[in-house]
Amino acid sequence: MSSRVNDGHIAIIGTGFSGLCMAIELKKKGIDDFVLYERADDVGGTWRDNTYPGAACDVPSVLYSYSFAQNPNWTRIFPPWSELLDYLRSVAAQYDLLPHIRFGVEVSEMRFDEDRLRWNIQFASGESVTAAVVVNGSGGLSNPYIPQLPGLESFEGAAFHSAKWRHDLDMSGRRVAVIGSGASAIQFVPEIAPHTETLHVFQRSPNWVMPRGDAALSPATRERFSRRPYRQRWLRWRTYWAFEKLASAFLGNRKLVEQYRSQALANLQQQVPDSDLRQKVTPDYDPGCKRRLISDDWYPALQRENVHLNTSGVSEIRPHSIIDSEGAEHEVDTLIFATGFQATSFLAPMKVFGREGVELSDSWREGAATKLGLASAAFPNLWFLNGPNTGLGHNSIIFMIEAQARYIASAVQYMRRKSISALELDRTVQTGSYAATQERMRRTVWASGGCDSWYQSADGRIDTLWPASTIEYWLRTRLFRKSDFRALTTGKG
Ligand code: NAP
Repeated sequence: MSSRVNDGHIAIIGTGFSGLCMAIELKKKGIDDFVLYERADDVGGTWRDNTYPGAACDVPSVLYSYSFAQNPNWTRIFPPWSELLDYLRSVAAQYDLLPHIRFGVEVSEMRFDEDRLRWNIQFASGESVTAAVVVNGSGGLSNPYIPQLPGLESFEGAAFHSAKWRHDLDMSGRRVAVIGSGASAIQFVPEIAPHTETLHVFQRSPNWVMPRGDAALSPATRERFSRRPYRQRWLRWRTYWAFEKLASAFLGNRKLVEQYRSQALANLQQQVPDSDLRQKVTPDYDPGCKRRLISDDWYPALQRENVHLNTSGVSEIRPHSIIDSEGAEHEVDTLIFATGFQATSFLAPMKVFGREGVELSDSWREGAATKLGLASAAFPNLWFLNGPNTGLGHNSIIFMIEAQARYIASAVQYMRRKSISALELDRTVQTGSYAATQERMRRTVWASGGCDSWYQSADGRIDTLWPASTIEYWLRTRLFRKSDFRALTTGKG
């Protein structure tokens, strides 16, 4: 740990793509009095936790990686989670971040001390530290969601969430039920189906699925990327623009939405000859409204003899079976929840109290208002990576994280240069920014595409996604805008 760490240090929460990126951007600016607080015992975030069979990113890794740390050694276009985890471990080592990380500490509460202009950070262990600046990089999809299905507590078999995969269980001969048919389920169902005796997939609503087109990257390709990094950079650039083109479909271009729909329907027609099954897996909402999925083996898996797609819903769970909503009983010994994450609870379960003791969850009850997802009024010196309204439906989130980390590092540098103790986002700026974001959101397919998704809060508001191009986000975060903030120097500022 750096010897310069003191109560004025920068606390970064999490060591996934976000937290590590923040640390690197600070280092690039010559700032090294930061500590990364990590609840687990390794870096990697999502890619440390999601180790289910078939787990891989659905954005090619040439793009889903840091711009400043290209890796010529990816073995596939969409490499497995283990390569992404190895990549993050190697980046942490390369940038000498390990001495800055405290593993096994879970932040339970943060409280802003208005007299000292410091954040008091409480850990679940009972220990606490004080920091001048806090950057949250704990991830939007890090706390699994398990629905409280009737009778769940009575189930006597193995039950677990896809993000906490039970590698100790051999799936051979098991009678498995999978609840959910989203991004994670479509990756692991085809992997485990050949081993299970029976596999019941409980689908609440179908998803649009497009071909994935994965392929191995040959040793010759890897060698070429290694010797001529500009070739990999060129591929990254082309991949970025191919994804960025999707933005206009999601942002309201009806022609592109319909084009996408016909392509997805053609894929469905080709892959699912049985019209009953095809009907069950055909969505009735616009493509893109829920996250777009890619797979070459999901539809074939559903057509296996031992796989049964159930669309009636779960009405009850019994010790050794599931009763579906039509009253049929299905005997199972393993229950896998592929039901997603608590994406709209943001920093929860951490409790965060800003100026005048206001709690972040209360402050965001009527909408997670921020400027560009980076900061929120009444919470000075608290910054967010992957914050509200910065998620993407179409491109690599690493692009957004890099823009955010650069911006926050510039803000910290500015504060220190000007001897400012704290920066607080101006409330008027925030109100205008949130209103503009929500106004633009109304035209997007996520708001008007006729679906329910994890992008939406319970009241239908969308505080998760960025409703514009990533280029626009990049442009708007190029320079730290001091006029958006109020400087606090002493006492209550
Ligand atoms: P998800 O895509 O949100 O899927 C959750 C599934 O659970 C949906 O089918 C949902 O049905 C169902 N569900 C939720 N609550 C239910 C309930 N009470 N009863 C029955 N079914 C219920 O979740 P995920 O698969 O964990 O993925 C979450 C996000 O993680 C993705 O959108 C993506 O951003 C990320 N992810 C990315 C990758 C990748 O390749 N990069 C892979 C996996 C995950 P409804 O559709 O009806 O709500």
